[in-house]
Amino acid sequence: MSGLLYSTNLKSPDVDLRSALLQGQAPDKGLYMPREIPQIPLDEIVGFRDKTYPEVAFAVLKRCSQGLIPDDELMRLCAECYDYEVPLEQVYGRTFLMRLDQGPTASFKDFAARMMARMMRYFLAQEGGALSDRGRGGQLVILTATSGDTGSAVASAFHNVDRISMVVLFPVKEVSDRQRKQMTTLGGNVTVIGVDGQFDDCQALVKRAFADPELKRIRFSSANSINIGRLLPQAVYYLYAWAKLQEKGEAAVISVPSGNFGDICGGLIARGMGLPVARFVIATNANDEFPKFVATGKYEKIVPSRVCISNAMNVGHPSNLPRLVALYGGVMDELGKVTKEPDFVSLRRDVYSVSIDDEGTRQAIKDAWRKYKTMLEPHGAVGWAGLERYLEHLGTGALAHSPLSISIETAHPAKFPEEIQHLLGVDPPLPPSLAGLDAKPEHYEKGPNDYGWFKAFLLKVFKG
Ligand SMILES: *Cc1c(COP(=O)(O)O)cnc(C)c1O
Repeated sequence: MSGLLYSTNLKSPDVDLRSALLQGQAPDKGLYMPREIPQIPLDEIVGFRDKTYPEVAFAVLKRCSQGLIPDDELMRLCAECYDYEVPLEQVYGRTFLMRLDQGPTASFKDFAARMMARMMRYFLAQEGGALSDRGRGGQLVILTATSGDTGSAVASAFHNVDRISMVVLFPVKEVSDRQRKQMTTLGGNVTVIGVDGQFDDCQALVKRAFADPELKRIRFSSANSINIGRLLPQAVYYLYAWAKLQEKGEAAVISVPSGNFGDICGGLIARGMGLPVARFVIATNANDEFPKFVATGKYEKIVPSRVCISNAMNVGHPSNLPRLVALYGGVMDELGKVTKEPDFVSLRRDVYSVSIDDEGTRQAIKDAWRKYKTMLEPHGAVGWAGLERYLEHLGTGALAHSPLSISIETAHPAKFPEEIQHLLGVDPPLPPSLAGLDAKPEHYEKGPNDYGWFKAFLLKVFKG
């Protein structure tokens, strides 16, 4: 990015990566996007074939960091973040599954959350200030509410990261044992509060703290999924996968199970950088507002969102959609109002979007296991079923001459043991990251659903 980042609402000044990262959302409530997408020459992308994942991440992110992070530091960050495998599994012929589930929380969200945390640490260190002075100059307190998965990926990403403290609120009765343990066994700079209430109550407490003038001396940030730091690292694995799998430079079909559309925006940015993509398949669950938007040109949110087994994708209005619209020359505000239409001709040429309901999702899990001994979980199964629909639509089906195709698996099947056991009659093996969890001691506060209590807690911990 030679240039800067602009807000998709077009009413805030451009900023550099450092401000965008530490601010999160633009002041006009828009999302930051690069003014220019950096270009990577095709022969360099082909050469990623011979590189490790951290080396590819460095080559890509170097071009996004505007020289703000020195090369040797950025290379160290890449090595620190990506110390796990990125399996590319052949399912049949030229059709592959990319498993993004080998990180510490067995979710693809580890890829971006870990890098965002470490880029923040770097920029905070540049500001100076004493390490001990929690929540002040050169320091940041990440405050977040979670209903499960996102909270654990973000908490794990910030765990033991200097200069940053993390407070996670979760509804104590609504989170599974495994999800809770992924947060409460971290300790150190991660403070976890089980609130006697629902997810919406947790979110309301966090919002009030952000807006409270008496807490202004504590520097809060949210690190939620609209932060540009949660997006750019997600361009990397698309380039990596293609380079490792391509023969003779053929363009690939890539299928992405989508909820808030952060993952697919990473893919579209990779394409903008020069990645040869024949078609992106954007597969949603029964929340089909986007497939309808592509088909009809009319956007209608789904309120309330529909409950599906791929629960991290139960989104009736994807928070990153304004970014996708912006990539096609349109303008959509944070509420979903389109003030300038995207170029639907190009969008429909690049993207095939399809909705897969729970029945289709379960069928895909069963079929992939029966035909190929490939184990999918509900999110990856939506992507896989979407890819199969697209290949049928092309008329090539499961034939050997189908195009190079890559479907993304975003979580580990062991995170959904009941569903997998029920459908396949086998227990998914635990990855090492989840295996040790049961034996670790848990630490968390229990609090009432009461803002006065929460505020006093924050003032005590951060000496506001
Ligand atoms: C968050 C999540 C998704 C959806 O990703 P988006 O970037 O929100 O589209 C898909 N699968 C899993 C397992 C997730 O946690």
